[in-house]
Amino acid sequence: MEYILETKNLEKRYKKFKAIDNLSMHIPKGSIYGLIGKNGAGKTTLIRLFCALQKPTSGQYTIYGIKNTSKEITKARKRMGAIIETPSVHIDMTARENLMEQSKIIGVPSYDGVDELLNLVGLSQTGKKKVHNFSLGMKQRLGIAIALVGNPDFLILDEPINGLDPEGIIDIREIILRLNKENGITFLISSHYLDELSKIATHYGFINKGRMIQEISKEKLEQNCKKRIEIKVSNAKECVKYLEQSNIPYEVISDNVINIYDKINISELAISLSKRDCIINEFHEKEETLENYYINLVGGEDNV
Ligand code: ATP
Repeated sequence: MEYILETKNLEKRYKKFKAIDNLSMHIPKGSIYGLIGKNGAGKTTLIRLFCALQKPTSGQYTIYGIKNTSKEITKARKRMGAIIETPSVHIDMTARENLMEQSKIIGVPSYDGVDELLNLVGLSQTGKKKVHNFSLGMKQRLGIAIALVGNPDFLILDEPINGLDPEGIIDIREIILRLNKENGITFLISSHYLDELSKIATHYGFINKGRMIQEISKEKLEQNCKKRIEIKVSNAKECVKYLEQSNIPYEVISDNVINIYDKINISELAISLSKRDCIINEFHEKEETLENYYINLVGGEDNV
């Protein structure tokens, strides 16, 4: 798999405190990668490292395969746009003036793309209205347009829906999806709203206390949360043979624990398995919401 951004044993310390602790992360090309963590988990610190606003204490990261310590990293960063915490907009300017200003700053010779960008984020009708009269959602959308000046193919958004009303959230979600699908832009989006991010993310990184607890694809996460029956058996090999032959979807969790993702009659299963010298010692019906899944992960981590 091709990764836009990768980290290896990344660490950021403030004196003795590890804000980022031995963190490894992989953002696949074309993905919408949701970086999920509660307040203080280290999301903003991590993003600030990627944007060269801070230096790692140790470890490394690569953007488009280029190491953070290489001279070429500046070139790689030109292919990426970012909004960290709040979008940096000039409130005494119009949306158009903001985009023209950004074009000047990054040395884009013409303003050709400005109208297209205004259109893309739904701000083409704002005319002479100054940004200080914009709603939070409009400012956030303008921030995205500013980050898109220069045509990046990787966009980092730190908590993009914080404080937005439901309509504002939908607007941002649709813009992200369109940019990802139509323009092939890869996203890194940090948030503590797992449910909201789950409407768009294709991959997740769960972070807690500066550590990466788990990286997981949308499909795998959904599978893990799906309604399932967890059985503990005496003979997993025979059980798997039976499930295969009966076309019952399953996953082997450990030596003797198997998840079954189908409506089955547990008594019938027990009888069939007993004929194969396999006994069901325990069974539990399980289903998890995404939030619960995350809380369980983090809860486990807190108890380490
Ligand atoms: P939030 O969702 O609240 O923005 P976050 O996941 O973005 O949280 P960070 O802002 O990255 O978290 O902070 C991670 C940890 O590092 C926190 O405990 C924070 O107090 C600490 N921290 C961040 N910046 C500094 C700093 N300059 N000096 C000391 N500690 C810091």
